[in-house]
Amino acid sequence: MDATPLLDFRTPRTPAARVERDRVESNKLAKRLRREVGRAIQDYRMIEEGDRVMVCLSGGKDSYTMLDVLMQLQAKAPVRFELHAVNLDQKQPDFPEHILPEYLKAKGVAYTILEQDTYSVVKRNIPEGKTMCSLCSRLRRGALYTFAHEKGFNKIALGHHRDDILATFFLNLFFGGKLSAMPPKLLSDDGRNIVIRPLSYCREPDIAEYATQKAFPIIPCNLCGTQENLQRKQVRKMMDAWEREHPGRSEIIFKALTNVAPSQLADVNLFDFAGLGGVTGPVPDWLMPGPDPAG
Ligand code: SF4
Repeated sequence: MDATPLLDFRTPRTPAARVERDRVESNKLAKRLRREVGRAIQDYRMIEEGDRVMVCLSGGKDSYTMLDVLMQLQAKAPVRFELHAVNLDQKQPDFPEHILPEYLKAKGVAYTILEQDTYSVVKRNIPEGKTMCSLCSRLRRGALYTFAHEKGFNKIALGHHRDDILATFFLNLFFGGKLSAMPPKLLSDDGRNIVIRPLSYCREPDIAEYATQKAFPIIPCNLCGTQENLQRKQVRKMMDAWEREHPGRSEIIFKALTNVAPSQLADVNLFDFAGLGGVTGPVPDWLMPGPDPAG
């Protein structure tokens, strides 16, 4: 039997070759993220000439990546638009106030740090041990949307990515009884702002890898001490297991969200099932109130 060990030609053998391989891989990743953000912006017409885009920056990997990629695209974009980063300091204990200003100054991007003690409000209103995220996010959204409206930013960019969208889809499906997710572009509930999600086509693992490569100064989102919503955690676990066992499944499910067939579902508000076959006129009462004919 031939005892010669098998050579793995995919693994570079010298340190220089490994550095070169890592450089090529990281360029590929940056390119992929730029392409996916560009594609989402184009598909949903997220950004137009003259837009004033407020980029919401939490200090997490997603929002850093969003800002970074948008800045790269801005340099070559076919339209001119403004970027303004905004962070809401929610007065959580030990929030490292200096990190974002230092980072943003170094990047040369216009920014505002808003201060609002939503932490105390949440603490006062949510019983100990319960998850605080839903009220906390609502208050944060309110503060950020109001600021955007007052300062004339016509677009608000949020850092949700493809896997956030899918997790929300499954949460609504399993626990809410509705087919609904987080759209890449929407009009805010109060009708004052257009919200965009430029990372809608980006996979979370790509974003995590990019954030590591770029060494973004991440601020953890657990300073408040709350637990992540249990249902969301379960859904994410399920998605991760699928992805391990069936790579590409998340991509297929996301594709389904962009390829809806209302006539093959059952929502009478989405498709005129009643009118099929040219049926018109008043709807007869098939519930037939009165005595049971079988009884
Ligand atoms: S983890 Fe804490 S800061 Fe983040 S949304 Fe939840 S309550 Fe708010």
